[in-house]
Amino acid sequence: MALSLSCCSLLGPNIHKTQLNISSKREEDLKQVKKLITTNGIPETITSPHESLQKGNWVKLICGASFEDVADVRNLSLVYTLSGVDCIDCAAEASVVSAVNEGIEAARAIIPIRRPWVMVSVNDDEDLHFRKAEFDPDDCPTDCSRPCQNVCPANAILGDCTPGGSGTKGGVLAERCYGCGRCIPVCPYDKIRAITYIRDVNTTAELLKRDDVDAIEIHTSGRQEIAFRELWNGLGDSINNLRLVAVSMPDIKDLTISAMSTLYSIMESNLRCINLWQLDGRPMSGDIGRGATREAIAFGLRLASARGKPKGFLQLAGGTNAHTVDGLKRERLFQTTTISEISDGEKRPPGSSSSQNALIGGVAFGGYARKVVGRVLSSMQSNHRHAFIEDYPEHLLKALEESLALVGTVKRYSSS
Ligand code: SF4
Ligand code: SF4
Repeated sequence: MALSLSCCSLLGPNIHKTQLNISSKREEDLKQVKKLITTNGIPETITSPHESLQKGNWVKLICGASFEDVADVRNLSLVYTLSGVDCIDCAAEASVVSAVNEGIEAARAIIPIRRPWVMVSVNDDEDLHFRKAEFDPDDCPTDCSRPCQNVCPANAILGDCTPGGSGTKGGVLAERCYGCGRCIPVCPYDKIRAITYIRDVNTTAELLKRDDVDAIEIHTSGRQEIAFRELWNGLGDSINNLRLVAVSMPDIKDLTISAMSTLYSIMESNLRCINLWQLDGRPMSGDIGRGATREAIAFGLRLASARGKPKGFLQLAGGTNAHTVDGLKRERLFQTTTISEISDGEKRPPGSSSSQNALIGGVAFGGYARKVVGRVLSSMQSNHRHAFIEDYPEHLLKALEESLALVGTVKRYSSS
């Protein structure tokens, strides 16, 4: 006992000193986090989400319509709330919605900042965003080099094949798979299946009644009028609780405006809030590279200058990344209310838009936003699995720098 006491008394002060050092380092890092937010002028300058759409500086974080890793969703929501996003879009699943709201409130406990809207994403029919990859790892050749695992942007394919690793090999972690499909063509043995699903309309209607859900996004091909109508009618009065209804659709070229008009006519009679058209350029590809954003910009340019489109803000998505705003500026579409010239040289009369709202309301970032902050989350989780990022302010600081560099392209913060 004497020896034990003596050891404690020898080690005690050192341990105490180390703990104090760690705690003062954390306090210092947290101070840096707050300083970064205030230096950028975020709490004072960010506008209400509706005003952001009007001004063309709306930013939405897409957590992923199928991404259900609640620990990551919470941390992503915290980081991007501090960065001043206007909306956080997530899977229409109660636990995911709660994770988003937890992240938002944790951010607001660090610094008072306005709450972004919370949006849930659903589909009216089969859609790329609503699928999961699946395979049986016991069915895979033991000598497979596992290209599926290397290509997965979500770290959704389990296994530790690194030199010195455990050598375990697993299948797809369903809650992390967001359906990008990149693993499917790289499997040399054709072992991976894609399982598609449609969100249940009654469950969605219940979710929309929650006080912490502000918006819905309906993914549609634009070609399935009956499926869209059934979903819309099935949501019934739950729509009345919302501040925003978004419809996300791909570019179906000459059919786009007539499809939008049909969908709007279905919604119009009980649409009591603002609406938005999400122009999904190249789905789930923003993290691939610079050029991935081109299709969203071309889609935005065509829609901004199109006549006869139904009411609603326009917002880009699908391939959006840190180069999107540069592309919008090149096309003179960034935070402008008029088109004086379009890129192929055809002249249009100045002031051809009758609205005082920006032609493009804003940008949604998905894969790219998750990638830049995800790197920091992975590094934190390698030591602290399921950690709250605010408990590790040095990681929070890095994540915030990454998110601000992206959100700041649209928001034009003072230090961007
Ligand atoms: S590559 Fe894409 S589809 Fe395949 S497991 Fe990863 S997230 Fe899912
Ligand atoms: S690439 Fe195909 S065979 Fe190889 S581990 Fe992945 S799913 Fe199995």
